[in-house]
Amino acid sequence: MLAQEIIRTKRRKGALSPEQIQSFVRGLTDESWSEGQVAALAMAIFLNGMQRDEAVALTLAMRDSGRVMRWPDMPGPVVDKHSTGGVGDKISLMLGPMVAACGGYVPMIAGRGLGHTGGTVDKLEALPGYQTRPDAALFDATVRRLGVAIIGQTADLAPADKRFYATRDVTATVESVPLITASILSKKLAAGLQALVMDVKVGNGAFADSPEMARELAESIVAVGNGAGMMTRALITDMNQVLGHTAGNALEVQEAIDYLCGRNREPRQHEITLQLCSQMLLLGGLAADEKQARERLQQALDSGAAAEKFAQMVAALGGPKDVLRQAELAQAPVVQPVAAPRAGVLAAQDTRAIGVAVIELGGGRRVAADPIDPRVGFAGVRPLGCAVQAGEPLAFVHAASEADAERAVAAYLAAVHIADAAPPAKPLVTEVLG
Ligand code: URA
Repeated sequence: MLAQEIIRTKRRKGALSPEQIQSFVRGLTDESWSEGQVAALAMAIFLNGMQRDEAVALTLAMRDSGRVMRWPDMPGPVVDKHSTGGVGDKISLMLGPMVAACGGYVPMIAGRGLGHTGGTVDKLEALPGYQTRPDAALFDATVRRLGVAIIGQTADLAPADKRFYATRDVTATVESVPLITASILSKKLAAGLQALVMDVKVGNGAFADSPEMARELAESIVAVGNGAGMMTRALITDMNQVLGHTAGNALEVQEAIDYLCGRNREPRQHEITLQLCSQMLLLGGLAADEKQARERLQQALDSGAAAEKFAQMVAALGGPKDVLRQAELAQAPVVQPVAAPRAGVLAAQDTRAIGVAVIELGGGRRVAADPIDPRVGFAGVRPLGCAVQAGEPLAFVHAASEADAERAVAAYLAAVHIADAAPPAKPLVTEVLG
């Protein structure tokens, strides 16, 4: 099948057949399609869209471009969660162990930071020794023994997506609903999941900055996930402020540990975590209704079982042996408060700008090869709606140098708005689909 004929079909707004889509994905994997041809088809799809059955065919073909994990004879459901990305979004670190403590099996293939958003893999790499790329046998054994393992994408999982994503990244074709859908779901299907809960973030710190885009993406992911044979549900959740108290890799790992150990549970983050975990238990048949799911999850937290699962996973994957007591996280040499310039109520945050400030501190990448400084970021982040006095800290910058800290303080101050009165609070979860 000629590549140029397939591109021509889509350029003329036609629907691609499953055979044409499979031929394209083979061309991606065996490199028989040139970079120019891949880019041309990406742009044609970006401009002319895809119907649902085309997106399902693309998802399945990309899943089958590499190894597909199987989990026969598991004593519990194989379930996972994926977020479209936010600032301070450390939920996976808490959710995986919580669901495992309730009888679920969570083989989580997580991502690195993308754009202004942080990535779970970068956070875990703040733990000295933690292997985000263990061999397949260790990953498999950890999931079977503990119920949870969180690692990064390996070369043999959905390799077609890896090449396609790299081309989309440099051809301004990332923000296409069918392409994002197929990219995320091909990797989740390759992990052999029975059920997936999607956290589609909406707001000024999310990729979807409008409710319409978030809904379109959520609907697409639910339809294609279910169409590909994986029970899929999506929650649309607020990302108009940093999630929890921290943004930055080591700081977020410490917050997740404090959460699991019951030392600090920021209410919004706790509620979103419970809602996502509850949906996983419901889809996995581990709870009859939401009330029972929440009780089981609270019990997993209160008994210390979820914290223990996290500690066991970290030790199994090469990290610190006693992470709950001694996380061995590196500390930034400079810590500076961001002082409120006036008294009032914290009314708005430019969340994306705070994510960018974390990258500028060295906590994210400007180009793919950049190393990450795990120590840096923001801690003690005050939530929207809280009253502040002039001079009171709005957050604390953790930086590698005084000069970096000064720049980050200025960036943070430019990103927050203090008013006389609080605007109405935005709902945490606006919709559940699927
Ligand atoms: N995350 C992915 O894995 N793929 C996309 O296309 C966008 C976000």
